[in-house]
Amino acid sequence: MPRGTTGGASGTTGGAYTTAGGEFQSPALEQLVRHLQVLPGLGRKSATRIALHLLAGGDHAARLTAAIDNALRQVTRCRRCGAITEADPCAICTSETRDPGLLCVVASPVDILPFEKAGFYRGRYFVLGRLLSPLDGVRAEDLPFDRFLERLDTDQVREVILALDTSVEGETTALYLQRLLAGRELCLTRLATGIPVGGALAYTDEATLQRAFLHRQGVDRA
Ligand SMILES: [Zn+2]
Repeated sequence: MPRGTTGGASGTTGGAYTTAGGEFQSPALEQLVRHLQVLPGLGRKSATRIALHLLAGGDHAARLTAAIDNALRQVTRCRRCGAITEADPCAICTSETRDPGLLCVVASPVDILPFEKAGFYRGRYFVLGRLLSPLDGVRAEDLPFDRFLERLDTDQVREVILALDTSVEGETTALYLQRLLAGRELCLTRLATGIPVGGALAYTDEATLQRAFLHRQGVDRA
């Protein structure tokens, strides 16, 4: 029996639909799989399973398409802090109840979420977008340090709290910020105990994060 004729519609790898070259007979399906395959964490097998699921019927595919289209139109980044938002500036930057004098520096917009979920932090944020990584070619000029320094002045920041991953890149970025803020009249702190070495901040539980925040330590500036 030639390849491509075995298996059934329930096959998760699409055996019944493939050509001898391992590609789908339908160029449209092949294109869908290839687009899904470039998503983080998805290989061809998972992409194929998702594509077949979407084509299996029901209105899931149409609702997913509408949700992606809506998100592309609505979602933006706050020009002040870099958070993901639909209003620019975001609700945290414009809130009267947040203390503008406290600025928490994080690497990614998702790092804001555990703070907001825990609910103890009443300051504002600054998202760097990425961490310094000279080995990967990510240098200081690739990060928004100019905008960060401006923010310190406009909001008259009293304390900068470094809430960065404890990875090599996180440590490199923290060290750079320590030097950048040398001589400035403000308090520089960073999260203390509880964040696991090499751990990602976004996946730290609320209790651990709150303890690390409450015991944050002053940072000497060179
Ligand atoms: Zn903002």
